[in-house]
Amino acid sequence: MKEARKDNEEKVLIIDKDRSVTTVLSNRLKSVGINAFIAFDEVSAFELIKANKPDTILLDIFMKSKSGEDLLTVLKTNELTSNIPIIILSSAIDVNSKVYGFLSGASDYIVKPFRFAEVYARIKNQIRIVSMQNELEEKNKELLEKNSLLQQMTITDGLTGLYNKRYILNRLVSDITHAARYKEPISFIMVDIDHFKRINDNYGHLAGDILLKSVADTLKSIVRDVDIVARYGGEEFLIVVPNGDALGTKILAERLREQIENSTFDIEGHKLSITISIGVKSSNINLTTDSDAEVTRLIGEADTSLLRAKSNGRNRVEIFDECFSMDKSQTTDSKTNTRVNNISVSLTH
Ligand code: GH3
Ligand code: MG
Ligand code: MG
Repeated sequence: MKEARKDNEEKVLIIDKDRSVTTVLSNRLKSVGINAFIAFDEVSAFELIKANKPDTILLDIFMKSKSGEDLLTVLKTNELTSNIPIIILSSAIDVNSKVYGFLSGASDYIVKPFRFAEVYARIKNQIRIVSMQNELEEKNKELLEKNSLLQQMTITDGLTGLYNKRYILNRLVSDITHAARYKEPISFIMVDIDHFKRINDNYGHLAGDILLKSVADTLKSIVRDVDIVARYGGEEFLIVVPNGDALGTKILAERLREQIENSTFDIEGHKLSITISIGVKSSNINLTTDSDAEVTRLIGEADTSLLRAKSNGRNRVEIFDECFSMDKSQTTDSKTNTRVNNISVSLTH
């Protein structure tokens, strides 16, 4: 947060053609601890503004080179000066002049001849207002930062940094609505680490946590940016593949499985090897418009495939497929690595 300003830091720029007035005024301001700078025209005014960044500008409304009104407009529209409060000094006492000044962006209006006490009070007033505005802006910025952090925390999982289950389920409703409207496919890859409990039992819960994060990173590094990876449960991940068709998603799932199987995770001095089981569900392009029901159905079917992968021996990909029958030839034993060999189409992720 910004510190409150000290009096001797306050700076005022006086723009006035009348040298006798400006000199007296500037001396009086200096005597009460306000740094005052004097400009007699627009050019010197901008030079002083650039060099000194004044808190307030005192502007005489009748200028020699350019009319006071024009200069007021210039100051209020220039990016460098638009936020500096301007107090008009003018001998015009009529209401129209005052209204014109305020409508042109002046913050205050002092009629000449003036008493120094009034000028001083009005300058202090403007400085106080600006300082309050700055404080508000600062607080607002802090609030926005905290808000975005909170928002981030509500949609991500603290351990892995992946999206959490609540986020993915909410998001899926709109993704499925989109897929249904544009008749696009959408695919789901449900991943579960095999025998993860043994990792905790053998190496401790902390090692388990680190491994979970590493697996999350590995999965994320393999999928495309548009694919959404979420931590769906303890050691379970859900990957949503927008526009992903059955064959491409199957190939991707197999790549994920292989990559994890072939990785060695260096966790707290232990070199750990693990495997994952995967259930895949690819929607056909005829999704119903009941997106909530479709989310439940599609995830349920991915989960069913995952259970099949577990019961068929783990470290394998099983597909829940509506278009192709659940043909065992598509899901051969993991050790032979031939699951996708019978598919002639190759899609790259
Ligand atoms: P399976 O192959 O059948 O999936 O066996 P599994 O051991 O992986 O499955 P099980 O459901 O029996 O155990 C899951 C374990 O995951 C138990 C639980 O303690 C652990 N787990 C869940 N969340 C976390 C976590 O955040 N950190 C750690 N370290 N362990 C977790
Ligand atoms: Mg498991
Ligand atoms: Mg599990």
